[in-house]
Amino acid sequence: MADAKYKRVLLKLSGEALMGSQEFGIDPAVPKRLADEIRPVFESGVEIAVVIGGGNIFRGVQGAAGGMDRAQGDSMGMLATVINALALQDTFEQAGMDSRVMCAISMRQIAEPYIRRRAIRHMEKGRIVILAAGTGNPFFTTDTGAALRACEVNAQILMKATNVDGVYDADPKTNPDAKKYDSVTYDEVLSKNLKVMDAAAIALCRDNNMPVMIFDINGDGNFQNAVEGAHVGTVVYNKED
Ligand code: UDP
Repeated sequence: MADAKYKRVLLKLSGEALMGSQEFGIDPAVPKRLADEIRPVFESGVEIAVVIGGGNIFRGVQGAAGGMDRAQGDSMGMLATVINALALQDTFEQAGMDSRVMCAISMRQIAEPYIRRRAIRHMEKGRIVILAAGTGNPFFTTDTGAALRACEVNAQILMKATNVDGVYDADPKTNPDAKKYDSVTYDEVLSKNLKVMDAAAIALCRDNNMPVMIFDINGDGNFQNAVEGAHVGTVVYNKED
């Protein structure tokens, strides 16, 4: 691998990314493919923290739509991220990548508590840190968890893996005239309500100058190319940067 532009990255993987062609849960082939994408970057010495979502299993808003207390549903959603984190860890370790799961809610029999300095230490020692349970609070998303953790561990960039190759001004699946942005500012994302991350996550990144890259994790070598500095996907940043 060529010299990396980024030495420490936070990779956000959505729970839905783990479903593959399934309607629910985890398609075992998907974490394996993700591990293949991540391994060359990991082996080159780039420090990687992964925040994993839970939408393939449960989302608090779904529960609330069905009459459930929102905070209770969100706790279930956070538990879903822990299931995904353990699945990812298993796959990473089978692929020869040392990893630690750190959880924002206490679950010490199966995951370490999230401690910022310890997370950084793990990365420095060459372990992928898999961060589960988002922020540990209801009414948030794992995108906001990713923004928060990226700032906390001093990542150079938050890389959000998706199934589309960037940010568009309209839905490219339904609108053939949709235009892809190479780059876009946080304020434009917020004012145009572009589907990047929720507003809390974008505002946190904006206020802390944390660049966000939206890219397609399904392209062969896309993650590696992006870490090496190739223009992949869409970058969200402050204009004056
Ligand atoms: N969640 C939460 N607090 C957080 C992060 C997540 O309550 O800080 C809950 C929330 O219910 C959310 C679910 O966990 O819907 C799964 O996370 P998310 O929807 O962000 O997963 P993704 O869309 O990335 O798969």
